[in-house]
Amino acid sequence: MFVISGPSGAGKGTVIGLVRQRLPHLVTAVSATTRTPRPGEADGREYHFMDEARFRAAVAAGDFLEWAEYSGHLYGTLRSEVEAGLAGGDDVILEIELQGARSVRRSMPEAVSVFIVPPSTSELEQRLRGRGTETGAAIARRLGRAETEMAAAHEFRHVVINDDAERAADEVVAIIEAQRKDA
Ligand code: 5GP
Repeated sequence: MFVISGPSGAGKGTVIGLVRQRLPHLVTAVSATTRTPRPGEADGREYHFMDEARFRAAVAAGDFLEWAEYSGHLYGTLRSEVEAGLAGGDDVILEIELQGARSVRRSMPEAVSVFIVPPSTSELEQRLRGRGTETGAAIARRLGRAETEMAAAHEFRHVVINDDAERAADEVVAIIEAQRKDA
């Protein structure tokens, strides 16, 4: 199992998309969230979109491997998404924020953790604004959180700088392949 984390705007989604093209057998766990879909996002593909009552019920039922509050919304990894992949012998990749990555480290210490960072804070801000999907207040909140998250890079086994998405994807692929050889 691979846990990929990093501040919002670091380009994790783009890098993971490229990694998946190169390693098609990788299973990406589709998370649940209470945030509303962005244009182009589909339920069950980017996320399982659910309202807070349903999310809380899933928490109470123990359906989540981990969950966290992020920028006013709830996000969580469904056990069912992870177990199906691992049971089939596939590598599973989780793209989650810092709190979630910390809980996975506690519950699955064997998981390989990768932290993706932007080349600079100004680049991060530009990417968040360029996305054009969040309000000014939401961007400010995400930037504040990004600073705290950056300070946690040392907690991860690998740190990958996303100066160029293709290059960063190569590095993540190499990490995954090296791990397989060791396993
Ligand atoms: P976004 O709203 O930009 O899609 O995601 C916001 C943050 O939530 C990102 O840092 C993303 O990695 C994180 N995230 C997505 N799914 C999960 C999840 O299942 N658990 C946790 N803890 N964080 C998640």
